[in-house]
Amino acid sequence: MNLSFDNTQAAFAYKSTSDLVKARFLFTVIQSPLIVSVATKVTPVLMNSGLPINGIIRNTIFKQFVGGETLEESARVTKQLGSYGVQVILDYGVEAKEGDENFDSVTENIIEAIDFAATQNNIPYVSVKITGVASLVLLEHLNEAPRLRSGIHDSESENAAWESVRERMFAICEVANEKGIGVLIDAEETWIQDPIDRLAIELMGVYNKEKVVVFNTYQLYRNDRLRFLQLSHRIAKEGGFILGAKLVRGAYMEKERERAQKNGYPSPIHKDKFATDKDYDAAALYCIQNIDTISLLLASHNEESNLKIMDEMSKLGMQKNHARIHFSQLYGMSDHISFNMAIEGFNVSKYLPFGPIKEVIPYLMRRAEENSSVNGQTNRELLLIRKELARRKDKKK
Ligand SMILES: Cc1cc2nc3c(=O)[nH]c(=O)nc-3n(C[C@H](O)[C@H](O)[C@H](O)COP(=O)(O)OP(=O)(O)OC[C@H]3O[C@@H](n4cnc5c(N)ncnc54)[C@H](O)[C@@H]3O)c2cc1C
Repeated sequence: MNLSFDNTQAAFAYKSTSDLVKARFLFTVIQSPLIVSVATKVTPVLMNSGLPINGIIRNTIFKQFVGGETLEESARVTKQLGSYGVQVILDYGVEAKEGDENFDSVTENIIEAIDFAATQNNIPYVSVKITGVASLVLLEHLNEAPRLRSGIHDSESENAAWESVRERMFAICEVANEKGIGVLIDAEETWIQDPIDRLAIELMGVYNKEKVVVFNTYQLYRNDRLRFLQLSHRIAKEGGFILGAKLVRGAYMEKERERAQKNGYPSPIHKDKFATDKDYDAAALYCIQNIDTISLLLASHNEESNLKIMDEMSKLGMQKNHARIHFSQLYGMSDHISFNMAIEGFNVSKYLPFGPIKEVIPYLMRRAEENSSVNGQTNRELLLIRKELARRKDKKK
């Protein structure tokens, strides 16, 4: 596979030079763990204080990582990405708040996003966080229930609150099914993940018979997930449905390790990055080799993992735009992967959150933290932005 991610002209064609200069400033600032640590504490307080910092946030971190405050605003970014052959995964980026009223409101917003996606030609998926439609306490409680033979916990059946969560998810998937939009269920922390897995499998059993509507997310930094992916596949084959598998490495490593240590149980996370990478690539390979019964969404900024799968597709003689293989990166990061892959004809999308500035602050703070802690990620973004700015400057001479 000869694809190179080095073409920064292609990667940033959709960004003006002034946007790139702002991005360079932003990535330079969030490179500092100290600044990020202070900012994550101070920003929410400042937002509530009435000080006029909305404008600063809107023009910097919000613009870099979010599609807009509303669906209409996000439509502009969606169209722009579409003109470069890049698709979109819409994410209602508002963080979970407890209470049935909030859960119902999130459900309505997700259904609106699905309706909107159906009117655009480059939004194949929306993403859903179960913690947006279910109480954390309920999920933790269900997670502690006895395990079934399948390895997934059981006890939901008679719980009225869980019944409401199921109804919300069925309502979302019903509309998605009608409108031909996929639903990606995010993976969350291990102590709430089992009921999420169980519900995802139940939904797939209903909606993935003829086409693939529902995807569960597999975090390959967990040392049990490769096996769980294979088990899910077996359940799918026995149940006569197609497995929707979104593969990620996992976003909550520090939190998981700290909790395991504090509560004295073995960490569910691989001992090192190498082990995570190995399982991630093995999981992707497993999906590709079983593509007749699995639909794969490879969600990663890792160049090697993306290249390996493109290579494997080529070896197996698969079309680059194979209907069951899709790649994705977060909006505002790794454009060199997304745009260069789109040019080559692969199915690739940006994960695009939208929502009121005040409500998406936690998402933005996570992006800042991730970029200050993930080894090399910010460095790589900065190098690419600097390279493209230098190229544009040279061209002017
Ligand atoms: C489109 C999209 C959707 C996503 N959805 C979810 C989701 O639903 N749930 C979720 O949890 N995350 C999600 N993520 C985030 C994802 O899990 C990763 O945190 C992020 O993408 C970085 O991993 P990488 O494969 O891109 O790159 P890399 O930079 O190669 O990997 C970094 C990741 O490797 C793992 N890692 C790093 N150091 C170690 C170590 N010492 N030991 C073990 N493992 C280590 C961690 O998972 C870390 O995040 C999503 C990401 C994308 C792009």
